[in-house]
Amino acid sequence: MYAVRVHQFGDPSVLRYEEVPTPEPGPGQVLVKIGAIGVNPVDTYIRSGRYGALPALPYVPGSDGAGVVAALGPGASAWKVNDRVFFHGTASGRPIGAYAEFTVCDESRLYRMPASISFGQGAAIGVPYATAHRALFAKAGAKPPDIVLVHGASGGVGIAALQLARWRGLGVIGTAGSEDGLELVRGNGAHFAVSHRAALYRDQIQAAANNGRGPDVILEMLANENLDYDLDMLAPRGRVVVIGNRGRVEIDPRKTMSKDATIVGLSLWNASLDELDAVYREIVQGLEEGVLVPVIGQEIPLAEAARAHDAVLSPGAYGKAVLVP
Ligand code: NAP
Repeated sequence: MYAVRVHQFGDPSVLRYEEVPTPEPGPGQVLVKIGAIGVNPVDTYIRSGRYGALPALPYVPGSDGAGVVAALGPGASAWKVNDRVFFHGTASGRPIGAYAEFTVCDESRLYRMPASISFGQGAAIGVPYATAHRALFAKAGAKPPDIVLVHGASGGVGIAALQLARWRGLGVIGTAGSEDGLELVRGNGAHFAVSHRAALYRDQIQAAANNGRGPDVILEMLANENLDYDLDMLAPRGRVVVIGNRGRVEIDPRKTMSKDATIVGLSLWNASLDELDAVYREIVQGLEEGVLVPVIGQEIPLAEAARAHDAVLSPGAYGKAVLVP
């Protein structure tokens, strides 16, 4: 089979499309023929070598995908050949193994895809929907009548957060940096959308939420730029969940005191397998009900993974970029 492998950490040119042996499923495992692979920003951080936990070289990047069951390992009984499934985490380890024509997963880590969901959409679920779910509910404890600001709503995690928040009956505000992105944010559940590149956009958000008290919850995709300003916008007793961050930031801690505010960080890698399983079961329900509908912005051939790594870090996010073998 063909896969993308990294033999040395570096820029996107280190992503090499090459022939490798097709993996074989072990006990309790399943061979998945991949239809599409989700490209997440963390794939680029790991590839660059600037990430906390790095895999041994060479490695196949990627944690998320969707496809069909191609073969069952000894004792695997939960699935049949040709079942349509999505996954987060392959048997090689959570952040690696998916940029390939085939991968092996533990059978308990596969989830059934409704017929209405394409492979591309299935590949967009793993990291983004679980991150958005954990941020909204496990970390921020969001519930009606809370108003949530998804600060960076046009990308993979942001779209998932908009859809999950609307499903749970929350008030939803979203930001994007482009006109197309704003259209997408409005179309995916935001009651109010505004550009994070516009002057005074934070004043508009605060005015729009809770009669000027501001949002109760902020999901933050770029904390190094926004965290101190988030504390200005936030409602009393509000919660900021730091999901994305690309540098250092100075904040005035007094703002947390005056509002009884909470700042909480989140890394999806810290979620236990049981926690993830509960989240994905609920996500499958949302897919079946048609309230969770992943949005694919770009489909890129697997052989051009380097282009996908450039795309996922470029401004003007529009849903999810996926690779197609
Ligand atoms: P993505 O698809 O590339 O989306 C990035 C989002 O950030 C877009 O909506 C983008 O908007 C927005 N953005 C750009 N500049 C911004 C600014 N100044 N203020 C607010 N938002 C801004 O990435 P993703 O997959 O959604 O992930 C988002 C971030 O969360 C990334 O940093 C990623 O590494 C991180 N993440 C963390 C975890 C975790 O476990 N903590 C899990 C998943 C993702 P425009 O492009 O329209 O400007």
